[in-house]
Amino acid sequence: MKKLLFGLAACLAYASVVKAQLTPFELSKDKNYTATYSQVISYYTALAKTNPQLKLINYGTTDIGKPLTLVVLSRDKIFDPALIKKQNKRVLLINNGIHPGEPEGIDASMMFARYLLKKNALPKNVVICLVALYNIDGSLNRGVSRINQNGPVSYGFRGNSRNLDLNRDFIKADSRNTLALEQIINTWKPEVFLDNHTSDGADYQYVMTLIETQKDKQTPVLAKYTSETLSPELYRRMKKSGFEMTPYVEAEENIPDSGIVSFLETPRFATGYTSQHNIISYITETHMLKAFDKRVYATYDFMQALVDIVQRDAKQIGELKARADAQVSRQKTFALSWEPDTIHYDHLSFNGFTAGYKPSEVSGLPRLYYDRSKPFTKTIKYYDNYLPTVTADKPVAYIIPQAWGKVIDLYKLNKVAMRPLAHDTTLDVQMYYIVDSKTPKRPYEGHYPHSDVKLNPTDMKIKFYAGDYVVYVNQPLNRFIVETLEPQGVDSYFAWNFFDSIFDEKEYYSPYVFEDVAADLLKKQPELRRKLEEAKAKDATLAKSASAQLNFVYRNSPYFEKTYLRYPVARLLTDAKLDLK
Ligand SMILES: [Zn+2]
Repeated sequence: MKKLLFGLAACLAYASVVKAQLTPFELSKDKNYTATYSQVISYYTALAKTNPQLKLINYGTTDIGKPLTLVVLSRDKIFDPALIKKQNKRVLLINNGIHPGEPEGIDASMMFARYLLKKNALPKNVVICLVALYNIDGSLNRGVSRINQNGPVSYGFRGNSRNLDLNRDFIKADSRNTLALEQIINTWKPEVFLDNHTSDGADYQYVMTLIETQKDKQTPVLAKYTSETLSPELYRRMKKSGFEMTPYVEAEENIPDSGIVSFLETPRFATGYTSQHNIISYITETHMLKAFDKRVYATYDFMQALVDIVQRDAKQIGELKARADAQVSRQKTFALSWEPDTIHYDHLSFNGFTAGYKPSEVSGLPRLYYDRSKPFTKTIKYYDNYLPTVTADKPVAYIIPQAWGKVIDLYKLNKVAMRPLAHDTTLDVQMYYIVDSKTPKRPYEGHYPHSDVKLNPTDMKIKFYAGDYVVYVNQPLNRFIVETLEPQGVDSYFAWNFFDSIFDEKEYYSPYVFEDVAADLLKKQPELRRKLEEAKAKDATLAKSASAQLNFVYRNSPYFEKTYLRYPVARLLTDAKLDLK
C-alpha cells in the first residue's frame, strides 16, 4: 500500500514536471494560443533551473522598462562569447516577436529549446541564441489587432510602447529595445541570423515563405554560399518535412500569377542591418490564413533545418564570414540604394489559388478573392535581381565631429573601429553641401526621412578639435559605415534626420544696413558683379526683385555662413598622417 502510494506520488510529481515543461501553446486545447510575456520568461526560467546547457542573460532595458532576455543554448556550457569565438564555434541568433502579432517563433522556440535539451541534441559546433520575445511592450498590449490573420486567439500589438515598428528601427535606433538587441548582436557576433514573422498579402498554398538577404546586396562570397548551398538546402528540407516553401510573395495587386519581386530589406530592417555586418540572414514569413499550429510547426521545422545545416557547414561558414569581412574591408565602391531589374528575371514553379473578382457585398464594386477549390501549379516570373541606383566611393576616412553624439554612441555600440584626434587640427577634406532633398509632410516612424538627396562635394580646409573621431574605411563594418554616413544612403543617418539642424540659417541681415555693404562689395569685386548680372539674365524673378538681388549678394559674400546646408561629417580623401589618441 505504502509502495503504491509512493509510486502514485512519484507519478504525479513526474506528471507535473512534464506538464510544467510543456509550453502554453502545447497545453492549450486547440493549439491556437501564444504564450504571454510572463509565461515565456517563467517557462525559460524553469528550463534553466534543470538544464545547465541553457542560460538566460538580460540585456539593457526595453522602452517598457523590462530587460531584453537572451536564451543561450550551449552544449559545452560555455556562455562567454569571446571563448566561443576562440573555440571556432558558430553563433546562430534567432529573433522572435519583433512583431508580437506574428508570434509563431516565440512558441516554436520554447518547444525547440526543450527538445534540444531533453534529446541531448544541441549541436556541437553551434551556440544557439534565442531572443525570447523582442517587442515586450507590444506583446503586453494584447488583443486582436490583425484582422487578416487566422489566430491565435489573442496576441500582441505591432508597435512598441513608443508606437514604433521595431523592424524599421535598426539604423535610427530610437527605441531602447533596438539598443539592447544591437548590444546582443555586437557582443555575440553571430554568423547566421533568423527573424521569425507572419506575412499578409496574397493567398496561396504555402504555409511558409522565405526572405533571404537579397543576393545582389549581399557580400559576394556570402551570396554565393547562400544562393547555391544554404537556401536550396533549406527549401529541400522544408519540402521533405511537409512545409514546402516559396520566396516571399510580393506581387502587383496581390496576384502572384504575373510574377513576384524579391524583397529588398534596406538597413532599417533587422536583416538589412545584420547583412551590413556580413551576417547570413533569413526571415521566415508564415502565411497568415493557415492554422496557427501549422505555422508554429513550420517555424519549428525551419529552425531545426537551419541549425542542422549550420552545424554541418560550421567550419565553412566561419571561413566565409572571415572572407566576407576581408572582402568588405577592401571594397572601394558601395551601393547606397537599389531598384529591381525589370528586364532580367528568373522563373519558379508556384502553388497558388486561382484569383478572381466578384461584386463586393459591402460596396457592390468588384473585389478580389481567391478560390481555394481551384489550386494551381504554374511557372511564374521571379524578379530576384536588383541594380544599384546610387553608389559612393569610400574616402580614406570619415571624420565625425564629437558634437554629433548619437552617431558616436551608435558607432561605439556597433564596435566600429575609430580613434579620436589627439590635437586640434586643420585638414584638407571633402565636405558635402546639401543641394536638394525630398522630405515628407507627415512623419514616418517618428521622423521625416529625407530622400532623393543631391550633393555638391566641395574640397576645403576644416578645423577639427581634439576628440573628434576618425573612422578609417578599411574594416569589416565598411558597409555599415558608408551606408550610414553617406547622405544619399536610403537609410543613412542624414536620411533619418540626425543632422537636420544644418537646415537652419543662424545669422541674417537687416536689408537697410546690408544695402550699403552690398553696394561696396559689388564695386570692389567685379567678379561678384558679373555673377549677379549673369544670374539676373537667366532668372526674370531675380531681375525684378530688389530683395532677391540683395540676398544673392549676401549668399555670395564672405558674411554668409559656410556651415549652412553643410553636412558635418568630413571625407578625408588622402592618407594624411594624423595624430590620434
Ligand atoms: Zn512582421
